[in-house]
Amino acid sequence: MMAFDGVTLALSKGRIFQDTLPLLKVAGIVPQTDPETSRQLIIGTNRPDVRLIIVRASDVPTYVKHGAADFGVAGRDVLLEQGSEGLYQLLDLGIAKCRLMVAVPQGFDYAAAIRRGGRLSMATKYENMARSHFAKKGMHVDLIKLYGSMELAPLTGLADGIVDLVSSGNTLKANHLEAVELIDHISARLIVNAAAWKLGRTRLEPLVEAFRQGVKAE
Ligand code: ATP
Ligand code: MG
Repeated sequence: MMAFDGVTLALSKGRIFQDTLPLLKVAGIVPQTDPETSRQLIIGTNRPDVRLIIVRASDVPTYVKHGAADFGVAGRDVLLEQGSEGLYQLLDLGIAKCRLMVAVPQGFDYAAAIRRGGRLSMATKYENMARSHFAKKGMHVDLIKLYGSMELAPLTGLADGIVDLVSSGNTLKANHLEAVELIDHISARLIVNAAAWKLGRTRLEPLVEAFRQGVKAE
């Protein structure tokens, strides 16, 4: 354990980091380097009592659950897929917005396929959310777990369709797919270790208030 008695915030590189920057800026918190170029995984800020750690998007809840980070910024998709035991979702940050959708090849008659009641196969990284969605609809779906590039699955015959996050829809279009069903709206949340929040709220509250101001200003 490194000796650091300030507040640690876990972020993932890419859109979460980029979209969190303006919120931090409102609070007067400015990172000392850009993780995209510096390759540093622990990033100091202009505030000696606030540091950032850079982890995979799906690892953010793990760091916070175990108290290795006090706070994290995690997509609602990650929290729903992994569960959020030991965590509190304090704020909807309104960033990294997208939708979890079912998509199929352009021209594939999804509604007719459902009516026929045949088994469909869907490739996804979001097995738990997909499973509960199709169960609610009473559909029999074979799920195929993938870790990325879901769009390729219907193009190669691996699956009939995919369950994936969509924002602009450009990636779907580029791969001749179309979204046919909304499963859920997604945005990033500020999460905190539940035990730390109960016991050390006075230490943690200022950063939450800072984020609240940032969200309001956006
Ligand atoms: P990893 O790269 O570690 O496998 P990832 O691909 O989910 O994970 P990112 O692409 O950085 O990581 O996505 C981080 C978060 O941003 C996701 O958990 C989700 O909440 C949100 N997100 C993912 N895709 C989109 C998208 N197309 N548009 C907007 N937000 C998105
Ligand atoms: Mg990604």
